[in-house]
Order: sequence, then structure tokens, then C-alpha cells
Amino acid sequence: MNQRRVYDAIIIGSGIAGLNAAHAFDKNKDVLIICKENSWDCNTFYAQGGVAVAVDEKDIPSHIADTLSAGAGLCDEKAVEILCREGRDEVADLIARGMEFDKDEKGEILYTKEAAHSRNRIIHAGGDATGREIHHFLMRENPHQLLYHSTVIDLLIDGAFCHGVRIYNEIDKQCRNYYAKSVIIASGGIGALYAYHTNSKTISAEMQGIALEHGIALRDMEMTQFHPTVFIHNKGARKQLLTEALRGEGATIVDENGYRFLFDYDERGELSPRSVVSKAIFDYKAKTGQKVYLDFQNFDDAFFKERFPTIYFNMKDVGYNLPHDRVPISPAFHYMMGGIKTDLNGKIPGFENLYAIGEVASTRVHGANRLASNSLLEGLVFSKRAVRDILERGVYFKLKTFEEKCDDLIKEGDHQRKDLLREIMWNDVSIVRTQEGLAEALGKIETHLRENIGKLLRLRLLVSKEIVKSAMLRKESLGAHTITSSDS
Ligand SMILES: Cc1cc2nc3c(=O)[nH]c(=O)nc-3n(C[C@H](O)[C@H](O)[C@H](O)COP(=O)(O)OP(=O)(O)OC[C@H]3O[C@@H](n4cnc5c(N)ncnc54)[C@H](O)[C@@H]3O)c2cc1C
Repeated sequence: MNQRRVYDAIIIGSGIAGLNAAHAFDKNKDVLIICKENSWDCNTFYAQGGVAVAVDEKDIPSHIADTLSAGAGLCDEKAVEILCREGRDEVADLIARGMEFDKDEKGEILYTKEAAHSRNRIIHAGGDATGREIHHFLMRENPHQLLYHSTVIDLLIDGAFCHGVRIYNEIDKQCRNYYAKSVIIASGGIGALYAYHTNSKTISAEMQGIALEHGIALRDMEMTQFHPTVFIHNKGARKQLLTEALRGEGATIVDENGYRFLFDYDERGELSPRSVVSKAIFDYKAKTGQKVYLDFQNFDDAFFKERFPTIYFNMKDVGYNLPHDRVPISPAFHYMMGGIKTDLNGKIPGFENLYAIGEVASTRVHGANRLASNSLLEGLVFSKRAVRDILERGVYFKLKTFEEKCDDLIKEGDHQRKDLLREIMWNDVSIVRTQEGLAEALGKIETHLRENIGKLLRLRLLVSKEIVKSAMLRKESLGAHTITSSDS
């Protein structure tokens, strides 16, 4: 691959947003997709539940209303309207291109229910392997070049133009510049900043940090979503998610005595929005000292194995026989509502040719809390809009080349500091926050920032600091952000 050539577009990320954007460019366009590690090391690949989509035209207003209600007043209503309206077209397009979703015996697409949706409108594939199936499909149809094992470590910015990216390649340990007429950031969320999370290990917030270093605004960074039903006792940073669809189809949350305590918190019980369920579990555990379980008594064996094969086999690997055994659960970090501020085409204000789409972006489509299964849909919708905007605007500029330098990416002691940061974020910047805890977290992060650290850790610290500062500024609880007045 010749790094001197100028691509029509560089796309950072091989999840649903990046791959669907790549597809939207004609195959004759010179497009380069860059990803860390392998293409499947992304959150898209791990998505279980499905894609939320209005069942018919009449359902669009209700999908909009449910999304706005989950977003707790912080949504951009136009963004939500676009998501729910164009979402139907984008899902139809995906199906027309050949993507298969699960169907009943009559060949009709199956719709399931997830929390805070007023009706069944989640389509799924491979039972509980929706993300993996979509990722396989998008990779099969992708005609563009992919650069693997390459971490973008800087954007080549001059004034209102992004001329390309600088990468570090893990295979040959070299840094290189790649140039393009447009750059699309589709690098996902921030999971690796937290001790417990459900995200792929590649999701560690470099691009949000690089944005901050270039003075690009992030927005709503305090809006971090914690999934209530996660098995956190497996090895490795990525914890095992137990999809919301399990509760949609009958799984219950119980304490050690089998008591369904969620109804003490919200009359919707297991079908309350995920922030309500996460906070209830957090509070109940703290108050009673009891363990909390996901219980599958309502399922029969054959149905469970067919509908949730990934979960069945993953849990079997760690010693649980589902649906007979109940599984101990805890909330864990899951999804970032905030991100790089963009317009409704994904364009970053102040730039002519720089875009952000998918989980890394903030269009405010999710507001203060994301409605379950709206993010795969977001990836489909806003990737298309960004590429359409790039092609329509046809921005031309004189390319500038940049020195090909390699910063000190990792320094001695960074691995330990990275783990400390994860603990700081989990202990003081997670489900229930206090001003005191946030101030303490901020102090510790600033201390680490003054130390002799490498660039990759600095980027993580900068993003963590932004999350803490945003959380401190929002004095009232809203959506996924819960703040109490004291530690007591
Ligand atoms: C376990 C799990 C289950 C989920 N279930 C659902 C669900 O059922 N329905 C739903 O709608 N949503 C679900 N979500 C959320 C959804 O999967 C994600 O929000 C969505 O897939 C994000 O897509 P994306 O394309 O923006 O990013 P990702 O799919 O996360 O892809 C990010 C890409 O960016 C690359 N990257 C990151 N940083 C760099 C860098 N510095 N340089 C180069 N490349 C980089 C990564 O390698 C990766 O290729 C789930 C998430 C998880 C973790």
C-alpha cells in the first residue's frame, strides 16, 4: 500500500458506521478503512439484541416518542426524526442488499421487545448474534481497502482542513501518514476507560482525545450508559453482556431469595429503562448486601438455545447451564451518548472535510440516555448522510504534507496507570456520582497528566477528564447521569 497517495476518503473504524460509510462510496472511489487489530474487534461485532426500527410508517411517531422519552429532554428532535424516518429506509436498503434478519415459519421478519420501547420493533439476526451477522455481511460486500492493526494517533489538521491521519502500525512498529480528501471518524465509544465494561478491547477513546488536543468540541460526555445485566466474573477486560432482549422475552431479576425487587423501584419492573434498572441494582446491592441474579425460569430449553445461542455457549464456557442456572449480574459501562459534536450530516463544525459518525459522534440523537438498539440504526443512518454530504459538497483543497514523526506512545509505568485510571472511573465516575467523588477523580487524573507519560495514556486521561468535568458541571441528575449531593 502506498502511503503517499491521496485517498478520496479515509475512514477510521470498521464497525457498522465505518463499513456502511465505505459501502456508500462508489467502488471506484479510492477509500481506505483503518482499524486497530482485526476488523471484527469492534462493538458492532458484539451487539446481541438487534436493530430498532419502526415496524411501519404508522409506528414512526411512536419510535420517535420512545427515543425522546429515553433521551430525557436532551435529544435533538430533528436528529431523532431523521433516525426513525431514514432508519426504515436504511434497514430496507440493508435487506435489499442481502442482509438476512430472523424470520418466522411464514417468512415474516420477527420483531422482539426491549426495555422502554412501547411495542415490539427490534429485528435480530442469528438469534442473539445481530452485530456479528451485520458485520460479516458488511465485510462480505466491502470493496475497499482495509488497513489492519493500525491505530490512528493523530489527525493531520491545518486550519479548516484535515489532510489525513498518522497511524502506528503494530506489525512493523512504524508510524506513517496517510492522506485523503475527506476523513471520517467512526472509531466508536470509550469502554476501556472503565474497570468493568462490555466493549471490545479496541474501544479506548484515542480519537476523542485527539479531538480535544486539536480544540475540537466534545459534547454531553457525562452521559455514559451502564448496562444493568452483565456477568463480570469472566477473565479479560470485556465483560459478558446478557442482552436486554432476555428480559424482553421473560428473564427476571431477583435477589438471593428469588425476590423481584425491581418493582419496588419502578412499576415497569424488568422492562424499565436500563438506567433505572442499573441504578436499582446498584442501590439494592448497597442497601442489602445481597447478590443479584438474572433468572431464566420462564424459558424452555429448546427455545432458549435457538433464540440465544451465543449467550448459551458463552455462559456454558464459564460453567452456567442456561436456562436452568441463574447468573450473578452487575451493571457495567456500556455506551457513550456523548462524543464529538457534529451537525446532522456528521460534519464537525469548523472543518470542511472532517466527519464523525456512529458512537464516537454526538448528534444528540440519544440525548441523555440511549433507547435500546437505536445505535446500530444510528450507524446505518448517519454514515449514509455523511457520505452523501461529502459527495454533494465536493470540497477541493491544496494538500499539505506533514512530517512523519512517531511520538512516545507508551512509557514505563503507563500500563499500571491505565489500570488505576479504570478504577478511578469505575469508583467515582460511574452509576451514582457525587461532587466530592468527582473532585477526587479530577485531582487524580490531573496528577497523572503531569507525570512522564506516553501519548496513548495522555489521550485516555484527557477524555476521562472531560467526562469528569462535564459530570461536575451538570449539577442535577438527568437521564444516565445520576448525581447525589454527598457520599452519605
Ligand atoms: C456487547 C454489546 C452489545 C450491544 N448490543 C447492541 C444492540 O443489540 N443493538 C444496538 O443498536 N447497539 C448495541 N450495542 C451498541 C453498538 O454495538 C455500538 O454502539 C455500535 O456498534 C458502534 O458502532 P461504531 O461503528 O460506531 O463503532 P464500533 O463498532 O465500536 O467500531 C469502532 C472501530 O473503530 C476502530 N478504532 C477505534 N479507535 C481507533 C483508532 N485510534 N485508530 C484506528 N481505528 C480505531 C476499532 O478498531 C473499530 O474497528 C452493543 C454494544 C456492545 C458493546
